[in-house]
Amino acid sequence: MRINILRVPEGHSVVSQEITATQDNAQGLAVDGAVSCTADLDRFQAQIHARVRFSCTLALQCSRCLRPVHQPVRGEFRLVMQEKGRAEERGFLPEEDVDLVFDDASGEADLTPFIFDEILLSVPMKPLCSEECGGMGVTGEPSVTVEYQAGAHPVDPRWEVLKKLRDKTS
Ligand SMILES: [Zn+2]
Repeated sequence: MRINILRVPEGHSVVSQEITATQDNAQGLAVDGAVSCTADLDRFQAQIHARVRFSCTLALQCSRCLRPVHQPVRGEFRLVMQEKGRAEERGFLPEEDVDLVFDDASGEADLTPFIFDEILLSVPMKPLCSEECGGMGVTGEPSVTVEYQAGAHPVDPRWEVLKKLRDKTS
């Protein structure tokens, strides 16, 4: 999401954009379709306070059966942007309190990395295709039961040699 700082008016404004995940911006996330983003912007001179809301669908894999899972993800976060080097102005924040410092010359602030950071935080640790998912190979496959019975089979004659050796040494 790119915001042209020069076009952000004083006071409140809203910007909506769809962003596409690419190899360099998406932190390895597989996004199904685009990410819808809406930013509420409040500008006070060189400072812009943004509340960004996003929603998208992630293409994940079920942690039990490995089948594809389409996981809707939504969230919001706030960030503070401030124009570089206007320290003489009233209400100017020290740089460590600012999320993004923008340079008026370029006029562009890129919020995309912040959005993908937030999406990454909302990825479930263990995605499931359904709560009832029984895991790999459970559905439609016959179960095999193996029963072992001690002493039911005669000892393989080849083991007899080893048994004799054991008896000798002990
Ligand atoms: Zn599953």
